[in-house]
Amino acid sequence: MLKRIDLTRDFARHRQEYLAAITAVCEETAFSGGKYADRFDEEFRAYLGAEAATGVNNGTSALQLAMLALGVGPGDEVIVPANTYIATAWGVTYTGATPVFADCTPDTWEIDAESVQKRITPRTKGILGVHLYGQPFDFAAVSAVAERWGLFVAEDCAQSAGAEFEGRKTGTLGEIGCFSFYPGKNLYAFGEGGAVTSNNPAYIDRINVYKNQGCRVRYYHETVGYNMRLEGMQGAVLSVSLHYLDGWNERRAQIGRRYDAQITNPLFLKQMHPANTKPVYHLYEVQVPDPEHFLAYMEQNGIECNRHYPVPCHLQEAYASLGYRKGDCPNAEQLAEHCATLPLFPEMTDDEAALVIEKCNAYRG
Ligand SMILES: *Cc1c(COP(=O)(O)O)cnc(C)c1O
Repeated sequence: MLKRIDLTRDFARHRQEYLAAITAVCEETAFSGGKYADRFDEEFRAYLGAEAATGVNNGTSALQLAMLALGVGPGDEVIVPANTYIATAWGVTYTGATPVFADCTPDTWEIDAESVQKRITPRTKGILGVHLYGQPFDFAAVSAVAERWGLFVAEDCAQSAGAEFEGRKTGTLGEIGCFSFYPGKNLYAFGEGGAVTSNNPAYIDRINVYKNQGCRVRYYHETVGYNMRLEGMQGAVLSVSLHYLDGWNERRAQIGRRYDAQITNPLFLKQMHPANTKPVYHLYEVQVPDPEHFLAYMEQNGIECNRHYPVPCHLQEAYASLGYRKGDCPNAEQLAEHCATLPLFPEMTDDEAALVIEKCNAYRG
């Protein structure tokens, strides 16, 4: 069975390096924050070309801390895409503010600046865009709307480590970028991890206080804080994987572009990749008439697929009290009803990619 993603191959290939990194952390007992977490902060900052970066315990925390640093709180609204992983919206909700769900475009499947424009109210504080599936959203269009209304733009980069919009890395475009290093993301830790990045060091300074129990000096708490530090072990592992990220992204893009060109079955709708972006193919999503039927067919052919995401945020039970109805975000709803994720990970072989293409093209619905 070809898995949708198989992390065992990466570990097998770089086993010695990963184990050496973990051993160093143990020998120095640099477990919580500390040398290896700090080293990764600096390496990741330099990789992105950002002014500042700080590691945190997961991507959901990164989003929450970013919203806090941007001054989001009760009574505020932040516009997020309806088609994203739910944690994008949690980041807003945890501060006491309300996420307002915008639709995506019918071709890029990324947040639609026109829909954002329609969601703006006097309470709107900012826009939290998502570079979903590793495809950068139209930052120029979204930031034009933001500028007109005096709003911030923050980025959820959980799926887009290394992706670029007009030659600039995601996570350096808006006020703050939020990353997840959950296993399976393009850049991943051996457990939970995340980071917040910005070209404004004042935001990262504030987040460093929040993530560290509200203190700069130990036992002197200047604000109510959280325990959201990155573990040293994860920092050490991430330093190893960051070294491989560009190579992994290149290999992902190679396979992704091959799917783009060679999956020609007219039953499939594919995501559009605008020429001014460099996507990193975190997830290769297609739309098919009946995804459950397609998943069963692929499984019979020895290929595991899954779905991202079957229910859009505005129709999740958790947000029923916000009062959205079917039809409020039609493009996101269509995507949710029809999406299916094909296998794609850097260690996939050319033969495996060819098999996926062959079975997709042979599918008759
Ligand atoms: C994975 C993900 C998150 C959450 O990150 P965690 O590290 O799992 O907390 C947030 N937003 C998006 C778009 C994601 O894909």
